[in-house]
Amino acid sequence: MSENVEGAVEHRRLIIAGTGIAGLTTAIYAGRSNNEPLVFEGDEPGGQLTLTTEVDNYPGFPEGISGPELVNNMKEQAERFGAELDHGIVVDVTPLGEAEGADGSPFRVEMRDGDVYTCDAFVAASGASARTLGVPGEDELMGYGLSTCATCDGAFFRGEDMLVVGGGDAAMEEANFLTKFADTVYIAHRRDEFRAEDYWIDRIMDKVDDGDVEILWNTELTEIHGDPDEGIDHASLVRHPDGHPKEKFEAGDESVESFEMDVGAVFYAIGHTPNTDYLDDTGVDLDDEGYIITEGGRGGGQTATGVPGLFGAGDVVDHHYQQAVTAAGMGSEAALDADDWLEQRERAGELGVDTTPEPAAGDD
Ligand code: NAP
Repeated sequence: MSENVEGAVEHRRLIIAGTGIAGLTTAIYAGRSNNEPLVFEGDEPGGQLTLTTEVDNYPGFPEGISGPELVNNMKEQAERFGAELDHGIVVDVTPLGEAEGADGSPFRVEMRDGDVYTCDAFVAASGASARTLGVPGEDELMGYGLSTCATCDGAFFRGEDMLVVGGGDAAMEEANFLTKFADTVYIAHRRDEFRAEDYWIDRIMDKVDDGDVEILWNTELTEIHGDPDEGIDHASLVRHPDGHPKEKFEAGDESVESFEMDVGAVFYAIGHTPNTDYLDDTGVDLDDEGYIITEGGRGGGQTATGVPGLFGAGDVVDHHYQQAVTAAGMGSEAALDADDWLEQRERAGELGVDTTPEPAAGDD
């Protein structure tokens, strides 16, 4: 297979999008398989773990390890095996070829700065980004008292009352961390039961007993008040004993209680949305929430997508486990699957892209 790709700066055997745990593990394995991966960091270099404090459940670190340290170790490890890490952000991937009856490898990979690469195989390990609520005040106050990362911003609001929105592990972890700085941490959760692991719930309940945390069950945030110069002044919330009060409030249910709270900071911990916009032109299958659908199953090729040569790993695929260690596992699978796939195509004489532009008409 040979294509001329105008403007392409370089052809690579394997490009990986994302330097979270999945992307870096793919890079370590792919480097060791001599696939010389080029790894683009994307919008959130290092991924979600760079926003976390202690990682206590990654095997091999009995005393725990900080998220950024784990990520940096993996970067060094990937580079040791020949991976090249770059700050670029991939904005579009387009299949240039056809294999196995579908559009696919090789791929044209366009970067935000206008550079274009081509590659034989591509691993999407672009993770997922923090969700927001879309309430009034949110756009204006994001970064000025409103944050999606307690570990990044908590210390700026020392001595204030703080509100965490959410009921999963992230909300518990953030609330627990914020008790270092906050006067009181309030957790607003839309139901009367957390979905977090028992480990986190127990830690938070200890903080409740100590008077550091207060839980607002069946409560949702409806507006954030303040301005960028002064920060957040207060928040508007709604509560209903049957949960999901906002829906009921918007439907005009008069039994919903509305109230205001003086808080100096608000932290969202309501989950993530997968980063897949740049894959629109590949036609890769996504589920209803936008996560990449991979082959799965029990044999090889589990991380393959329906687009030949395109593989997916980590939180951009996994909407269920979303653990650092599962992302690492899937990253290793993607590297092994890509390596098998590349070797097969190579044996069939179907690899390679000529990136030289076609001579203009009339040229010798
Ligand atoms: P999550 O488990 O999906 O929890 C999101 C929480 O936000 C849920 O409680 C949900 O409420 C709430 N929520 C979602 N949309 C909302 C909305 N529009 N308004 C109000 N509340 C809303 O997400 P996560 O906590 O980010 O965790 C994601 C994954 O990462 C999980 O697999 C988790 O185990 C993992 N994680 C692990 C750790 C760790 O230390 N081990 C730390 C962080 C994350 P409902 O419960 O009502 O749906």
